[in-house]
Amino acid sequence: MMKKKFFNAPFYRNDAASEMIVENGKITQIGKDLPKCDEEIDLQGKLVLPPYVDPHLHLDYVYTLSELGQEGAGSGTLFEAIDLWPKFKETLTTESVKRLALKGIKDEVSHGVQHIRTHIDVTDPNFTALKAMLEMKEELKDIVDIQIVAFPQQGMYMYKGGRDLVEEALKMGADAVGGIPHYEPASEFGDKSVHDIVELALKYDKLIDVHCDETDDPHSRFVELLNALVLMEDYGRRTTASHTCSFGSADNSYAFRMMDLFQKSKMNFISCPTENAYLQGRQDTYPKRRGLTRVKEFLDLGINVAFAQDSINDPWYPMGNGNMMNILDNGIHLAQIMSPKEVKTNFDLITYNGARCLNMQDSYGLEVGKQANFIVLNESSVYEAIRKRVNVLASVRNGEFLFRRKEVEYDIPLDL
Ligand SMILES: [Zn+2]
Repeated sequence: MMKKKFFNAPFYRNDAASEMIVENGKITQIGKDLPKCDEEIDLQGKLVLPPYVDPHLHLDYVYTLSELGQEGAGSGTLFEAIDLWPKFKETLTTESVKRLALKGIKDEVSHGVQHIRTHIDVTDPNFTALKAMLEMKEELKDIVDIQIVAFPQQGMYMYKGGRDLVEEALKMGADAVGGIPHYEPASEFGDKSVHDIVELALKYDKLIDVHCDETDDPHSRFVELLNALVLMEDYGRRTTASHTCSFGSADNSYAFRMMDLFQKSKMNFISCPTENAYLQGRQDTYPKRRGLTRVKEFLDLGINVAFAQDSINDPWYPMGNGNMMNILDNGIHLAQIMSPKEVKTNFDLITYNGARCLNMQDSYGLEVGKQANFIVLNESSVYEAIRKRVNVLASVRNGEFLFRRKEVEYDIPLDL
């Protein structure tokens, strides 16, 4: 069997390694001074990381803003964007969803992402986007892993029959149950939807990822009920609360009680720093909130939290390019996590922590026996890579290059 050795690279979170041997797509040895192989690939001293994980992305929305030639939310708020969405949704076809989603996937994969969790709107009796995405998940599995959340964008109750559409989507093959309790017409219905979400996950043995409290309103506390239910069912590790922006506005005495309970449930959190910095705080004058949940405190307390892109050019958010380095850079500013000790593990926010949200921590990472999936950054140290926001030079999947590019070359170099 052909053996391949990747050598001459520092490994993130593994100082004992600079080389890796791959056989049949799997890592068979990792360390230093490994035996000679049939093929040897010099990584030229560049930092090796497991692939970036984007644990929250709306692939049925990407590029709809410019594609459909429409304006986004004039107010810049989440709720106006949700109200605009049905107009966009009417125009979608399986073909258009696939074409645009592929553009978004290319953006992400070309920046080193190999694992995406996507929320697909299932408040559509025809399931146009879901059908398209189920096909793409299969078609693209050699390039990227896609997890699909059955997401009721217009609500389980705000949209007539929304809850049943989520159930149908799970039967069709969605991997996770989604929800949007803060969009339901009253908190009672938001609570009801959270009960439904957990019941459906248990019934169909699915993961959970809820758009939870994506508002500045500190009284939006659906995270409390979600956490309580999964704590009692011992389902926290398979559950994620996305956004939880209101938790960044919550009173400290409440927040600290809740963080104690989050530690007990082991529930995961996802923060979308660029998206929520853009969408939240819109009704504030000054001081103006920045839409972030308590990322720094979660990290300090060992509560799992990851960063995500959320949107690429859709009615919610006009920017976005699938580059997780940009998300990390924004996130560490907004969360104020840049001490030397924190920087050492900052990459966890777009790698290992995201993998835990996707419940794939057992197959993810650079260890013997796992698939040889990794990326190579254009720097040799973690600190310099983050400070310079460097690009991904190569992405390797099952031991083969998905792409490999050269460092920037100048026509006319700066003479200094
Ligand atoms: Zn979202």
